Amino acid sequence: MTYIYFLSSNKTAVAGQLFMIKFFRKIWKFFFKKDISKLAFSDTNTANMVNLILFGPPGSGKGTQALKLVQKYKLLHISTGDLFRYEIGNKTELGLKAKAFMEKGELVPDEVTIGMLKNKVEANPDVKGFIFDGFPRTIPQAESLDKFLESKDQKIQALIALEVDDNEIVKRILERGKTSGRSDDNDESIIRKRIEVYNHSTSTVYEYYQQFGKSYSIDGLGTIEEIFNRLCTRIDSLG
Ligand code: AMP
Repeated sequence: MTYIYFLSSNKTAVAGQLFMIKFFRKIWKFFFKKDISKLAFSDTNTANMVNLILFGPPGSGKGTQALKLVQKYKLLHISTGDLFRYEIGNKTELGLKAKAFMEKGELVPDEVTIGMLKNKVEANPDVKGFIFDGFPRTIPQAESLDKFLESKDQKIQALIALEVDDNEIVKRILERGKTSGRSDDNDESIIRKRIEVYNHSTSTVYEYYQQFGKSYSIDGLGTIEEIFNRLCTRIDSLG
């Protein structure tokens, strides 16, 4: 009976249908605190998003691999190191703040870094997901990132660490320093400081995501293609 009533097209029935739709919508909003019309959009919008953290010590090849991953998976690459260098290049207040820490191979304070990262994410609402490179580097950064993504119905799917030993890193960064124009790539004591910061502060982020079963390591030695294939195999198996 109800079925026939809803399908009929006389005026009273249409008014009845509209009333029922409005009523159901109100009930939904009351219980779930969300507009049902926005629900379908936000679910399809975020359900397919992939957010990855490309992890590893400085010089482990994150930047090189991120560029290739971006092409294959159509994600947005966010490197906090690149963002800081951009700010320094433009002599902004943020750049000036960051410069003093970067020149010494130290971490830029969390509040500066997190704010900058959030701005970059907010400025790109329509992407399929992000590859975070060089972020998070501390537990407070990781916690802020998780909270921030959660507020957007998103999450980190995986942290993938490229494993490369310290001596290989120093060799690679000094080589890169010949052309990168980065002062922190040219001085071995600063490079060693950056590795020390990674081993003491940043590597804990691996354990942080491990507790949620999201951390993975892959061998960061080999050709660019070999490492890329290892990364893709891992990403494709995330499910
Ligand atoms: P990168 O290009 O990732 O090697 O970063 C270069 C430098 O930028 C680092 O040595 C830090 O001084 C600074 N930096 C980049 N990302 C972060 C971050 N997430 N937290 C704090 N400092 C950062």
